[in-house]
Amino acid sequence: MSKVIIIGGGPAGISAALYAKRANLDVSVFYMPNSSLNKAHMIENYYGIEQISGQDLYEAGIKQAQRLNIEMIPEEVLSLEYTGRFNVVTGTNTYEADALILATGAYRATPPIKGLKEKEGKGVSYCAVCDGFFYRKKRVAVLGDASYAAHEAEYLSNLTPTLHILTNGKEIKDDKLRQYELHTGKIKAIEGEVKIERIVFEDDSVLEIDGLFIAEGSAGSVDLARKIGTLIENNKIVVDENMRTNIPGLYACGDCTKGLLQVSKAVYEGAQAATDVIKFLRKKD
Ligand SMILES: Cc1cc2nc3c(=O)[nH]c(=O)nc-3n(C[C@H](O)[C@H](O)[C@H](O)COP(=O)(O)OP(=O)(O)OC[C@H]3O[C@@H](n4cnc5c(N)ncnc54)[C@H](O)[C@@H]3O)c2cc1C
Repeated sequence: MSKVIIIGGGPAGISAALYAKRANLDVSVFYMPNSSLNKAHMIENYYGIEQISGQDLYEAGIKQAQRLNIEMIPEEVLSLEYTGRFNVVTGTNTYEADALILATGAYRATPPIKGLKEKEGKGVSYCAVCDGFFYRKKRVAVLGDASYAAHEAEYLSNLTPTLHILTNGKEIKDDKLRQYELHTGKIKAIEGEVKIERIVFEDDSVLEIDGLFIAEGSAGSVDLARKIGTLIENNKIVVDENMRTNIPGLYACGDCTKGLLQVSKAVYEGAQAATDVIKFLRKKD
């Protein structure tokens, strides 16, 4: 049976999962405890529901999927690979799929560090697998404190012996990061004439580097999409009216595509993505 993996357990991902499962596909959903819904104190504008907290709506969606025996996997996705099929990489496993739906929510804002935006593309990168090659044997740092940063660091450690981890004042959440040179101080600024040259910490200490990879928190929609060459515009994944991306079998829906940031739009796009996935997989079989 064809396998579809959905990344995201919010309104877009669960809506896609319900449609795909009811068409008899083998469906797995990866998700974490956080969703935009968790921040929504009260929702009063969704059809048929007078009032519900975002947290309750999120949990109700997950329960609804479980009731249909959809496989719900509470694991963070760290990376994606595409070889005609899709590999979904988590901290413990790699899962294969014939079609993949990205429903990972809105783009994560970049950390508000002085000089960071200006150095994007000039030494600041958001994807180790895309840009790591340019920093072979150079001085590289990864900004992050958790499993996603550890995944990016592991990839980069094969390209350069000089690898620093910058937590920007945060506690380390993944012990794998401790094998690299750790800098836990808060960052004051990122500096350099044209390209990045140094990190200045709040205690005025300085770290000279050639490349900085941003991997704070978990991998967001755009981070994952970038790894397999998906088209992105203004930090949104580019899709057509059927939620197809530029990669055959890869779909995106919900807050990670352009348009309204609302539950109703996420639910519609999830349904549309799954409907097209069903056609795509039937043609393939
Ligand atoms: C404060 C606030 C108030 C809001 N109020 C309303 C309202 O009143 N009405 C309304 O319609 N909308 C409201 N919204 C918007 C609504 O919450 C979103 O539009 C909706 O949740 C988008 O659904 P989504 O499925 O695209 O993304 P999300 O709900 O954000 O779900 C994303 C999913 O992806 C998972 N995920 C992300 N990255 C990974 C990864 N690397 N690995 C595994 N899983 C991952 C998350 O755990 C989550 O399950 C509000 C939003 C906020 C922030």
